[in-house]
Amino acid sequence: MKKQMDKKLKGMFMNLTSKVLNNKSEKNIDYFLKTADGLTKNYALNVQIKAIHEMYKEKPELRKFIAETLQTTDKKSLEKFLTNFVGNHNWSGQVERVAINDKHDTHLPYVALISPTMRCNLRCEGCYAADYKKSDDISIEKVDSLFEEMKSLGIYWVIILGGEPFFKDEMMKLYEKHHDMYFTPFTNGSLFDENLADELKRLGNIMPMSSLEGYEAETDGRRGKGVYDKVKQGMSLLKERGLLFGVSSAVTNKNIETVTSEEFIDMLIESGSKMSWYFSFMPVGENPMADTDLMLSPDERIMLGERVTKIRSTKPYFAIDFFNDAPYVDGCIAGREYLHINSKLDVEPCIFSHFAVDNLKDKTLFEAINSGFFKELRSRQPHNDNLLMPCMMIDNTNVIREVVKKHDAYPTHESARKMVEDVQFMRKLDEISKDFKPVADNAYTNFKMKHQKVSEKIN
Ligand code: SF4
Repeated sequence: MKKQMDKKLKGMFMNLTSKVLNNKSEKNIDYFLKTADGLTKNYALNVQIKAIHEMYKEKPELRKFIAETLQTTDKKSLEKFLTNFVGNHNWSGQVERVAINDKHDTHLPYVALISPTMRCNLRCEGCYAADYKKSDDISIEKVDSLFEEMKSLGIYWVIILGGEPFFKDEMMKLYEKHHDMYFTPFTNGSLFDENLADELKRLGNIMPMSSLEGYEAETDGRRGKGVYDKVKQGMSLLKERGLLFGVSSAVTNKNIETVTSEEFIDMLIESGSKMSWYFSFMPVGENPMADTDLMLSPDERIMLGERVTKIRSTKPYFAIDFFNDAPYVDGCIAGREYLHINSKLDVEPCIFSHFAVDNLKDKTLFEAINSGFFKELRSRQPHNDNLLMPCMMIDNTNVIREVVKKHDAYPTHESARKMVEDVQFMRKLDEISKDFKPVADNAYTNFKMKHQKVSEKIN
């Protein structure tokens, strides 16, 4: 009975969606948000839609962003975003995930990340992708069966990492086969040509994110000469076809000013990008001790959050700050709202946390989600009352050490071991956490005051 009701409500939602696609006026969008809110009986979804509706009414830049996106985006791209990402993943998928959670007393992730290949066409500084061969890839049959399992768990949105996702061209067949899912490949952005852009337009269920570390000097400095121009050309091919796409930037103390500058965001908007993901640089590469030199200082880390908030409220553009947005998702989401399947099929709780207890050669994804390792991580979250200090590796350094030891988790590559065994590196991480605390405490007090006012307004 409940299932039938959910199906009926989803049908009504789909009708509403096609109305908006046929009439993209501001009045119709407002009606869409008001009615969608009334259609769902799912509390979490209800809160999300209500919050978006409030912001839509109050923020002219958001109205401009939505209006422009609806006007300039290819119809199939929009349809797939609304039916697959919003409808299948966030609507009915959410209902399915909650039902499975209740039945099995578990917590399924909101999104799954997978690296089908570690191979890449580029040879970026410090990256070890060149060491991988085709035989190290996950077989296409296995990726296919994992997508099936994800759907059986109500997960219809998958982020594709690597290596270079578009280097494994068989993936396009899977994107076509799983036409009810939504895929977000994080790409170096250098492989887009007319053919690939046409394919993306034909399929519609793929929203790529191209890496940019800044302008030509910063991007080519890290990725090789000519890469920045290729990424820009790729963006223009996607823009010409009206496809949805975005940008991801690893933020270091060298490029923070550039990638958060008004000029850079305006360039991205002009290039057709709809959103940016900002990831504070993490010391998880081949030489993690040396990596700490590139990390953001305490003040820079908070400044990144302030700049991203400003971009969201002053530009017709969407931006996510992976760390400073943690208060919106109750802190660390490792093993709770997401996980990463690496190209060896190890199941890691987070893209930066390279430890595992399960491998999908002999386990199902559902079993891995319910391992003692994942359960303990979830039960300990949030790791700190200050949600601007969410991380179990750089803010709450005892957590990764204790949980890895207790569950005998193995490092999924050799240098990851240093995070729990190299005394000098561990001491450095403790210092980083200690230095950040007073700055983060002050920032979190301000955050809570500001958000209390906003939630009083919504309620
Ligand atoms: S472990 Fe750190 S990087 Fe990973 S999800 Fe948690 S806060 Fe983010």
